[in-house]
Amino acid sequence: MTQSRRTFISASAAATVGLATAPAAGQTPAQSARPVFDVPPTHVAVAGSGDVFPVRRIYCVGRNFAEAGVATGREPPFFFQKPTDAIQYVPAGSVGENPYPSLTKNYHYEVELVCALGSGGTNISVANALRHVFGYAVGLDMTRRDLQRTLGDEKKPWEVGKSFDRSAPIGPIHRSDIIGHFPNGAISLSVNGALKQEARLEQMIWSVAQLVSKLSEAFELKAGDLIYCGTPDNVGPVVKGDRIVCRIDRLPDLSVRIV
Ligand code: MN
Repeated sequence: MTQSRRTFISASAAATVGLATAPAAGQTPAQSARPVFDVPPTHVAVAGSGDVFPVRRIYCVGRNFAEAGVATGREPPFFFQKPTDAIQYVPAGSVGENPYPSLTKNYHYEVELVCALGSGGTNISVANALRHVFGYAVGLDMTRRDLQRTLGDEKKPWEVGKSFDRSAPIGPIHRSDIIGHFPNGAISLSVNGALKQEARLEQMIWSVAQLVSKLSEAFELKAGDLIYCGTPDNVGPVVKGDRIVCRIDRLPDLSVRIV
């Protein structure tokens, strides 16, 4: 083999190796690749520790409480997502400042139990579902109700009505291995001291375990996923200056002021 022939072979071998290690679409880039800028992670404090819960996805459940006076059938639960950075973490004992968002004239509260997953999977059985739960928090599914309704009526995605910045206030996550699970208990919300929403968690049409199981049929659930489990009847509007206090038995209050 001549020198030039050998050089050609080794050059083409290197090119082949280069092709094989170049990141293809959807693959992880080489370890040496560096982000061109930092995107801050989304964290929620874990109560009673210096730890934080890193948020991967935020799933929300629609219509999971029977509405007063309406004989709601047990339709399958439906789900939507909020972007991870829609989280607004509010420490226990403090008041979060939640900005009245653009584009709406009907900004609504929805108090919800939030389930935080410590592991996941697909096709999780109801019997195994609670093993994947890391803990629970009180959350608010804030909603541009006018946009949500209009978009829904027009059969368009309601993204702008539901999945906007800071639309997901949340309190600290309490570990289920310490506090247990939430098959029952009172859930309520007041605005400026006046009770607006009041129900019991046992009125949820789909339990936490059933929601985890159903969701896992559609998505591969993973550690870091949050599930906003749906709100009771009597959602309503707030204006700038209003103070919302959300309450679920055994969890600290979640308080926000609309600014
Ligand atoms: Mn909701």
